[in-house]
Amino acid sequence: MKAPICVPCKQEMQCELSDCIVNDPASGNFPATYWIGDKWKCPKCGHEIVAGCGIRGLTADKLDPDKVRNSIEFTYA
Ligand SMILES: [Zn+2]
Repeated sequence: MKAPICVPCKQEMQCELSDCIVNDPASGNFPATYWIGDKWKCPKCGHEIVAGCGIRGLTADKLDPDKVRNSIEFTYA
């Protein structure tokens, strides 16, 4: 995919991390789910985004524990 664009800066973002893990915490009967995406950063304003997560999440046992510890917590609606 093309790099995302930072709208206020009119700059292409740069990929900072290609296997950035997002942790959607356990809720009710649903276990914690981990999504792997790309972390992008605007070189001008420093704004960061995660994009390109797949359609299927993973459980923690499929992942490196260090990466799980450093994951970004986010609850999908
Ligand atoms: Zn920017």
